Amino acid sequence: MTQDSEAIVGAGLKPAPTWDLKIERCKVLAERYPFAREILDFYLKLLTFQKGLYEEVKGNKAAFTIEKVGHPPQADDVPLLKKGLKALLPHSPSLLSIAREGPPLLAAIAKEVSSWGQTAWEAAIEDYQRSAYRAQPLFFFSRVLLQPYLQCAIEEVGAYCNTPLRTKKDDHAQRADTPVETRCPFCGHRPQAGCLRPMDNASQRFLICSFCHGEWPYQRLSCSNCTESDKTKLSYIVAEGWPAVRLDTCETCGQYIKTIDLGKDPEAVPVVDELATIPLDVWAREKGYEKLELNLVGI
Ligand SMILES: [Zn+2]
Ligand SMILES: [Zn+2]
Repeated sequence: MTQDSEAIVGAGLKPAPTWDLKIERCKVLAERYPFAREILDFYLKLLTFQKGLYEEVKGNKAAFTIEKVGHPPQADDVPLLKKGLKALLPHSPSLLSIAREGPPLLAAIAKEVSSWGQTAWEAAIEDYQRSAYRAQPLFFFSRVLLQPYLQCAIEEVGAYCNTPLRTKKDDHAQRADTPVETRCPFCGHRPQAGCLRPMDNASQRFLICSFCHGEWPYQRLSCSNCTESDKTKLSYIVAEGWPAVRLDTCETCGQYIKTIDLGKDPEAVPVVDELATIPLDVWAREKGYEKLELNLVGI
C-alpha cells in the first residue's frame, strides 16, 4: 500500500488494491481455473494497460487536472468524468487494439468505435449516467480508461473519506452502527462484489465499488441493492468446490452479488476472484437472478 493510500483509510473504508496485486492474482487464477483462462488472460492485458495509465496520471497530476478537482469524481459529475476522459483519450487506440483481441462482443464494438472523436466518447459517459450502460457494453471502454484516473483522484483528496456513511439505526436485529450505504462513498457507483474480512473473533462484510474498486463496510444481513434485511428473502449460497466464494441473492429485488470470504482464502483479491468464478454467474442466471453490476469483461 502506498503512503497516499494509507492516508485515505478512514471510517472503515479501504482504497482499491494495487494494480500489481490484481495482476498477480489474475495470473494465479488463470493457472488454477482453465475454464476461465481466456477471460483472465484478457483481463490481465486490461490490468497491465490500466497500471500504465495510473502511473502516467500519478506522475503528472497537473496535466490531468486532478489537483484542481478538490473532491473525488462522483457518479453524477459528468463534466469531471468528461475532463478525465479527455485527458486519457490519446490512449484509446491502445485499448481498442486490446479489445479487438477480446471477447467477440467487445471486439465488435471496438471495431465500431475506432473512428470515434471526443464527442462520441463524451456521449458514452452521458449514457452511463442515464444508467443505460448496463445494457450496452460500450461503457466498458470509458470505465477502463477512467478507473486509474479515479484511483489517483481519490488518493489525492483523502479527506473526503471522513464523511460518515448512512446507518440503519432502526433495525435491532443488526448492529445499528454498521452502514447500509449501497453506493460507493468514494465515487458514488454501485458495488461489483463483496468480501468478508476476518476481524477479532468475527468477520466484517464490505462492498467493493464497480468503478474505483474502493471498499466500504456494509451490514452483514442486508441486500446490497435494495437493503432488504428479512432473512426469509435473502440467501447465501456456497457451491461445492468454491468454499471462499458465496452468492448473495435477494428475492425482493431479484439481484445477486458475489462475496469473497478472505478468512477462507486470504490470498484472494475480490474483484479478480469475482471475475474468475464464471460458473457461479451461469448458475445464478439460470435461477433467474440478475447481477447487480457487470464486471469489466461483461459478466
Ligand atoms: Zn467507487
Ligand atoms: Zn434486494
